[in-house]
Amino acid sequence: MTTVLDTTRAGQAAAAGRDLGSLEKTPLERYVAPARPSLVGLSRPELAAALGAIGVPEREHRMRVQQLWHWLYVRGARAFDEMSNVSKHLRAALEQHYTLDRPELVAEQVSVDGTRKWLVRLPGEQPGERPHEVECVYIPEADRGTLCVSSQVGCTLTCSFCHTGTQRLVRNLTPGEIVGQIMVARDRLGDWIERAPLAGAIVPTDGGRFVSNIVMMGMGEPLYNYENVRDAMLIMADGEGIGISKRKITLSTSGVVPNITRCGADTGVMLAVSLHAVRDELRDVLVPLNRKYPIAELLAACRTYPGLSNARRITFEYVMLKGVNDSLVDAKELVRLLKGIPAKINLIPFNPWPGTKYECSDWEQIEKFSEVVFNAGYASPVRTPRGRDILAACGQLKSATEKLSARERMALRAMAMTD
Ligand code: SAH
Ligand code: SF4
Repeated sequence: MTTVLDTTRAGQAAAAGRDLGSLEKTPLERYVAPARPSLVGLSRPELAAALGAIGVPEREHRMRVQQLWHWLYVRGARAFDEMSNVSKHLRAALEQHYTLDRPELVAEQVSVDGTRKWLVRLPGEQPGERPHEVECVYIPEADRGTLCVSSQVGCTLTCSFCHTGTQRLVRNLTPGEIVGQIMVARDRLGDWIERAPLAGAIVPTDGGRFVSNIVMMGMGEPLYNYENVRDAMLIMADGEGIGISKRKITLSTSGVVPNITRCGADTGVMLAVSLHAVRDELRDVLVPLNRKYPIAELLAACRTYPGLSNARRITFEYVMLKGVNDSLVDAKELVRLLKGIPAKINLIPFNPWPGTKYECSDWEQIEKFSEVVFNAGYASPVRTPRGRDILAACGQLKSATEKLSARERMALRAMAMTD
């Protein structure tokens, strides 16, 4: 038997008997499939299997899958009866065994600048249990519409400045629940072929699609729900369906190193990395996953990210925490660390939440920090916050106060990404 030496810091820590347990929360709640599952979120082979299970002969699978794919992801069909080129008999069989359900939109807030925040309900774990809810933010701009999508209810990780990290309830979203957030957005905005756009909606003015860009930056750590997120992103990027190119899909991770390369190779989407600190001692505190995958390993994975080039840069996110990570020494070290990596830097004003010990850096400090980054050749826009008015009014949504800052956080982040 060969012994493989674990040379990672986590491996060394484990060998030294150091507890890395507090990095993650367990257990994850399970997803229980409904009796009649939804076809939303199934891959082509899975759709073929679903057809096979109700007796559709194999020779028809290819053609039927193509039809379903079109109705689901181009037309946004909500009922099998809409599928006019599918026989009545097959429509009835599909209806009997499956649905076209997506998550349910339960609340909406609209800002004067057109930003929309949606509270989306997923099926709960047990009948009668409090429903699982995630949030989704839509940011329209003149030349694009960006949707910020969630990958988990809560988050398994415990970043000390992030409110989602304190949430107890954690569940992975299924591919259908992830793709379903885009479908909910397209339903609400009227962004399907041959459907009327939502009256009064502020949408991109260049004639493009209302939802043209996706950022996986809502609740959860997408690379801790890797397979489901990967499958969902492959559906989003499918040119015969939802059709959002992989260049317009950005996944943000706190640094799950082994899945970074996999994600790039499997999907080719754009990468954003939540760096937030330039020294391991501090990053260990802010992003405890750093104790498992420290900065040097994280940046090594970034340097070899598949498809990386000046045209396809990695975005490094850096939350501005007063007196913690915002010194000019930190700014210079940030620039030094990223040398040689085709990168963009997003400075995100910290969004405080009840009970947090952190404060947002002063505006002048953010500007000075940004100047160092800018002088090193990086565009480092600090974005004008969007949706401020609805952030202020977010108590109007009936969810628990605990959730309010998660909404605010998402809006701020999504703003920072839409450059
Ligand atoms: N889990 C992933 C994606 C979701 S969080 C990740 O951590 O990258 C998306 C971004 O929001 C991350 O950069 C995260 O660090 C940042 N964030 C979390 N809480 C924040 C807060 N209170 N203020 C500003 N940004 C925050
Ligand atoms: Fe999870 Fe990201 Fe929040 Fe960290 S910052 S707790 S990884 S959602």
